[in-house]
Amino acid sequence: MPELPEVETVCRQLAPHMQGRVLRELEVLDPRWCQPAPPGELADAVRGRRIERVARRGKYLLVEFADDVTLVMHLRMTGTLLLVAEREDRSGRPHLRARLELDDGHRVLFCDQRRFGTGEVLLGTAAVEDYFGSRLGIEPLSPDFTAEALRALTRDRRAPVKAFLLTQERVAGVGNIYADEALFRARIHPLRPVGTLRRGQIAALRDAVVESLEAGIDARGATIEDFRHADGARGSLQDRFLVHRREGEPCPRCGSPIRKLRAAGRGTYVCPRCQPRPRAPRPPTARSVSAPPRKM
Ligand SMILES: [Zn+2]
Repeated sequence: MPELPEVETVCRQLAPHMQGRVLRELEVLDPRWCQPAPPGELADAVRGRRIERVARRGKYLLVEFADDVTLVMHLRMTGTLLLVAEREDRSGRPHLRARLELDDGHRVLFCDQRRFGTGEVLLGTAAVEDYFGSRLGIEPLSPDFTAEALRALTRDRRAPVKAFLLTQERVAGVGNIYADEALFRARIHPLRPVGTLRRGQIAALRDAVVESLEAGIDARGATIEDFRHADGARGSLQDRFLVHRREGEPCPRCGSPIRKLRAAGRGTYVCPRCQPRPRAPRPPTARSVSAPPRKM
């Protein structure tokens, strides 16, 4: 599933081709893409409008038109956005869900094998703020993402740190890949309750999230299955993962074999030595001298 670095890669590729152009037509071929809105309603809202900016928020890609009309797209599991010339826009392209026709003859194609990807049109800046206000937390590549801010978000929370990182309403844009890579960099076990992290660990985690996302952007994302750049190329971070999908391979730091476990319902990769498992909480009787010794 495309995460922040993958969407940022597509955003940076599309922006110079789309900004300043006029959208001739938005054709929705699969009504599920924009449900419950009828496809014609989206098309009417954006037809003939000038594209002012292409941007990213979390894992969402935004096409901002004149008069504060915004097309918000999410790639979900298998969505891709391809930029093609008119002559390359063959009919019968598999999994084509929506097509954006630019006034210079280029097309942006939303292809999506599993059909979880979405497109929505928002009218006015307040609608955009409402939409993301309820869906997305702090942007990890913004100046707001400080150790202090992260600490405030984690305070008194019992969720395991990996589950916390995957919650888009807390930190926007981090998914399974970058959560694993960041926790390894910060030497934190994914099942550690996030509220128990010490101040220094929170600061390390903040830096590790930023470094992992930036490594992803430098590699132009990771392609595990379907993710493609706007020109159809693949990302390369999968060749440079530190721990993600490297079960049995040596830890790049200490050489111990990487292990796979489940955290937040997802396959999760850790170095058992660099990321020690959290100890079980002590029951109230543990202090009593008569308590039997417990196996940890
Ligand atoms: Zn290690």
